[in-house]
Amino acid sequence: MSGLPARTFPVVLAAPSGTGKTTIARALVERFEHFVFSVSVTTRPPREGERDGIDYRFVDEAEFKRLRDGGALVEWAEVHGHLYGTPGRALEEAAEAGRHVVLDIDVQGARQVRERVPEAVLVFVFPPSAQALVGRLRGRGTESDEVMRRRLRAARQELRRATDFDYIVVNDDLESAIADVVAITRAECHRPRRARGLETEVVRLQTEIDGVLGEG
Ligand code: 5GP
Repeated sequence: MSGLPARTFPVVLAAPSGTGKTTIARALVERFEHFVFSVSVTTRPPREGERDGIDYRFVDEAEFKRLRDGGALVEWAEVHGHLYGTPGRALEEAAEAGRHVVLDIDVQGARQVRERVPEAVLVFVFPPSAQALVGRLRGRGTESDEVMRRRLRAARQELRRATDFDYIVVNDDLESAIADVVAITRAECHRPRRARGLETEVVRLQTEIDGVLGEG
């Protein structure tokens, strides 16, 4: 790394459903050890192949409300009839481990993170086209025509929120989208406000310069 050591921060990927953000989030944590996935809590029943505690923590509504009302969630939202939330612990543990926590959440949740976690970087993932969105939703094989139309209407609304985000990444090619998120994270690490020990480093360099100048 060619910058000063930086404090880590959450990277939020939000997008309409069917944009492919989960694939991007999963690839980041599989390929790079400085990213860790934020496992959300949800009342949605598990889909085939999903593992409790890895893909989501699956809970009933009473448990979800207990967590939410007890202040354990940094954000939560009702998405397509189910409750989803991000445990604050996920953010704390990642910070302690010096890793960037990747949040794969919906657009409403991202707005709450903006308010409560000012150091977070918000990335809005765009589908390249409506057809691509339809293709991905159909590809899941679980979406009836009515569900599909509902998700497309929701996507139409969610796209209006793009200007509230820090970055936009178009997922027309998975590898480029992953590379874009990596580049964004790298660039963000170079912001002065994220640097650890910036003042000490400035003083150290000034002292060195003074030594060269023979002053001080
Ligand atoms: P799915 O049920 O298809 O896994 O997810 C449905 C939507 O809920 C997706 O847009 C997903 O990103 C979002 N989601 C997943 N976890 C959370 C969460 O913790 N908070 C919020 N606000 N949305 C979430």
